[in-house]
Amino acid sequence: MTDIETALEEIRDRGLYRRMRMIAGPQGPRVLLDGRPVLLLCSNNYLGLADHPRVREAAADAAMRYGAGAGASRLVSGNMRIHRRLEERLAEFKGSESALLFGSGYLANTGVVQALAKSGEVVFSDALNHASIVDGCRLAGAETFVYDHADMDHLAWGLRQAEGRGSLIVTDGVFSMDGDIAPLTEIVELARRYDTRVMVDDAHATGTVGPAGRGSVAAAGLEDEVDVLVGTLGKALGSYGAFVCCDRPMAKYLVNTARTLIFSTALGPPQVAAAMAALELLREEPRRVERLQRNSRVLREALAENELPTAAGETPIVPVVLGEAATAVAASERALERGVFAQAIRPPTVPEGSSRMRLTVMASHTKTELREAARIVAKAVPETARRAAARRLAEASAPAKGGVFDGLADAA
Ligand SMILES: *Cc1c(COP(=O)(O)O)cnc(C)c1O
Repeated sequence: MTDIETALEEIRDRGLYRRMRMIAGPQGPRVLLDGRPVLLLCSNNYLGLADHPRVREAAADAAMRYGAGAGASRLVSGNMRIHRRLEERLAEFKGSESALLFGSGYLANTGVVQALAKSGEVVFSDALNHASIVDGCRLAGAETFVYDHADMDHLAWGLRQAEGRGSLIVTDGVFSMDGDIAPLTEIVELARRYDTRVMVDDAHATGTVGPAGRGSVAAAGLEDEVDVLVGTLGKALGSYGAFVCCDRPMAKYLVNTARTLIFSTALGPPQVAAAMAALELLREEPRRVERLQRNSRVLREALAENELPTAAGETPIVPVVLGEAATAVAASERALERGVFAQAIRPPTVPEGSSRMRLTVMASHTKTELREAARIVAKAVPETARRAAARRLAEASAPAKGGVFDGLADAA
């Protein structure tokens, strides 16, 4: 066996082997998965815009007018009028002075954290932040302090330890695997007290929470207090790519320092035009967001009625935490046999011992579909695992333990 085959074998032994499944057709509520019809409960196409006719037409039209690709990075010849136009609309939508497009949310997070957390400084990162933020911290010259999930005492302790070297607090707005919302008001207060910047990743919040889907920062009324707001075009906005909202000097700084923007090709015109059309639809039809929020409630209630308790919440991300990777995978496979596709999520995406089925709701689901899904998912989870899930939830006030990946010692 080669070392690669041995490594694969080890991944399999730990129950962490992943493979790509094949979807046919657009990301609607029902799709063909590896050739079989299933109800889709793990897409981030929250508002049903990826397959909306106007979004598709906008992409097709842009491809015919401007071509399929931008041909170069923004700083060479890849900067086009449609990039600027979308940036203006996004800034307006989020209530910021400026917006700057990036190739993806992953590229935005790694690029911005690296640009803002320099050698000799400390960046503070929530233990459950998205992998792209973790990688940004790893790339940055700064030390990283990982505070326990949403634990403001731990964050405050870390800020005190840093003795003025703190440069950035970074958090998901809506946590991608748990669906809870960051304590932004408290984070902003601490940032002010300790003179650090705040960066919020609203990848899952854009189009799903806040007034007219404007995100977690708008929901908390903190548009003027957050230094950098990241959003993706790849989830509720139904396209691909990402953006950063900030003030003008920050945008100019990022154009000059964010390596993932400087050294990567600009977004293709079809992606830009699709996102612009999606944003327009979001503004014209805020009821889409209300329907998504209603659907999130419907699924949570239906799961509870089927004796599968989930943490209280209002976002379209509904985790059913089952513990061991094998338990989550088996439950996901059983649900799939009965026609519901809800992906099992395992380490390293979530902490060890918190593997789960992560259900995501779309505005395009019907109530009937969501109730059917809840019945099937509940049946797929064995009684013992269901009781363990209920116990875990009761203990949920004890947060996941964070650590540090370099630099400062842990508080605990
Ligand atoms: C999906 C996601 C990203 C990555 O965005 P892409 O545009 O898919 O690269 C970043 N942060 C969070 C919190 C996410 O959920």
